[in-house]
Amino acid sequence: MNTRQLRDMFLSVAHKVVESEDFLTEIDLKIGDGDHGFGMALGFKAVKTALEGKDFPTVEALFQEVGMTLLDTMGGASGVLFGTMFISGVAKQEPHEEADLALLAGIFRRALEALKRRGKARVGDKTMVDAFEPAAAGLEEGAAKGVSLKEGLALCADGAKKGMEYTRECVARFGRAKSYGTKAIGLQDAGATSVWIIFQAMSDWASE
Ligand code: ADP
Ligand code: MG
Ligand code: MG
Repeated sequence: MNTRQLRDMFLSVAHKVVESEDFLTEIDLKIGDGDHGFGMALGFKAVKTALEGKDFPTVEALFQEVGMTLLDTMGGASGVLFGTMFISGVAKQEPHEEADLALLAGIFRRALEALKRRGKARVGDKTMVDAFEPAAAGLEEGAAKGVSLKEGLALCADGAKKGMEYTRECVARFGRAKSYGTKAIGLQDAGATSVWIIFQAMSDWASE
């Protein structure tokens, strides 16, 4: 996949996230403060503007642009967390003009580890990490098996979906949801839902 295709994939992700604003708001209203949909939509509308009609020399420059835009526009804790999801995997990396499954797996694995260091959340804490971890594992599995980009992204999206569903079983250890204790059981985490939307949009784009 060249940088134009990667840009189009991220534009498709931005479109899906913006479209999901009300859905995300609804989820965050149940065990949070209800601002997650607004924040994500704000960030990804800005991503659309930042990417539309522009060419990027490298995969790394593109990831950097998406992450910096989210960081700048979303603000707050989740701006840092979703900015990290795109920035931290490409920092100090050799530039690439093409992305394959192995490259994407490496980028998102490094980003996930940075996110875990920064936010201190682990799998089972009912956060976006619960969806991100199996999504990254799906990319790694696909890369190890040598499957196509389309198949690898499908494994990734399936992982994210299972992780998002798993958050329903968990008690939150971070954010406002923490104060709900066991009352949060049965309800899914908003950030994990966003992570699933992002990876599902990537998979859908590759399947078209
Ligand atoms: P806020 O909680 O500040 O209102 P959002 O509603 O935009 O921000 O985002 C909340 C989401 O952020 C949660 O659903 C969770 O997935 C994620 N999150 C919160 N704290 C952490 C953390 N320490 N590590 C990882 N993810 C976190
Ligand atoms: Mg919130
Ligand atoms: Mg808030």
